[in-house]
Amino acid sequence: MIIDCHGHYTTAPKALEEFRKRQIEGLKDPSSSPAKDSLPISDDQLRESLEGAQLKLQRNRGTDLTVFSPRAGGMGHHIGTAATSELWSGICNELIHRICTLYPENFVGVCQLPQSPGVRPDNCIAELERCVKEYGFIGCNLNPDPSGGYWTDPPLTDKWWYPLYEKMVELDVPAMVHVSASCNPNFHFTGAHYINADTTAFMQFLTSDLFRDFPTLKFVIPHGGGAVPYHWGRYRGIAQDMGRPPLKELLLNNVFFDTCVYHKPGIELLLKVIPADNILFASEMVGAVRGIDPETGHYYDDTKRYIDAIDWVSAADKEKIFQGNTRKVYSRLVARGA
Ligand SMILES: [Zn+2]
Repeated sequence: MIIDCHGHYTTAPKALEEFRKRQIEGLKDPSSSPAKDSLPISDDQLRESLEGAQLKLQRNRGTDLTVFSPRAGGMGHHIGTAATSELWSGICNELIHRICTLYPENFVGVCQLPQSPGVRPDNCIAELERCVKEYGFIGCNLNPDPSGGYWTDPPLTDKWWYPLYEKMVELDVPAMVHVSASCNPNFHFTGAHYINADTTAFMQFLTSDLFRDFPTLKFVIPHGGGAVPYHWGRYRGIAQDMGRPPLKELLLNNVFFDTCVYHKPGIELLLKVIPADNILFASEMVGAVRGIDPETGHYYDDTKRYIDAIDWVSAADKEKIFQGNTRKVYSRLVARGA
């Protein structure tokens, strides 16, 4: 079985985008705010949105189960207030739940959190708990920068975040560190903001004692870990200069990287540098990069193909990468019987 730990519902019917548009208009004119139950999307529309996209790609590429969450660029935590985020997250998570119910063999849910800049993340606990207990979701996406590119909230290692971490530990769910859209014109969202955030989160973890406080807390850093594997020597050296323990001991029981790197040399570097126990297969298919690489004739985001083509990684390590590690990190997957 091959589990893709990073997929978003990027192909939702237009009605979802229209709901969001009306919600944003309602910030100026509350009378035009849509009601929570006013999103007209049928099960057939959900099926249609997936059959020609994620489901087709699963079949074509030979992957089985996708860990599925709302569209990351659409989370838009910087828009409106905590109440805006609460309604929007609830709507998006419910759609994921419906999809996982329609296709229990193909998708398992991860939730969006109702974060809002300057608002303590305690406000996310109820939605996380609801999604895990009522919907059977197995993790959450945590935005380290709800301001959308201005980094106005404390680092992920600040006690600001601790009540949410306590709940994650209690529920035994990991978070994927995932920013949303950038409203800072300096940072293109998928090309710069995402990769910056992945790198930034790792450096925050490196300089803190977060995992001494939460020995079982788990984070997945997506997009191959941003700049981290490429600059592994830099991070090891900085840790050493700061008198920190070796990175393996300091972070690698708690921090994992996905394989959303869209070329073979990048995947090879990731697999050479980061221990196989810390790598989770992912493609983020129908995501940031949707085209075909003219050099290979294959989709850039067909990441399984790159791993399959590497002959110096053992079958046992590939098995860990393709499913074993994801079952360990997203331990509720096992409880769910997948
Ligand atoms: Zn993503």
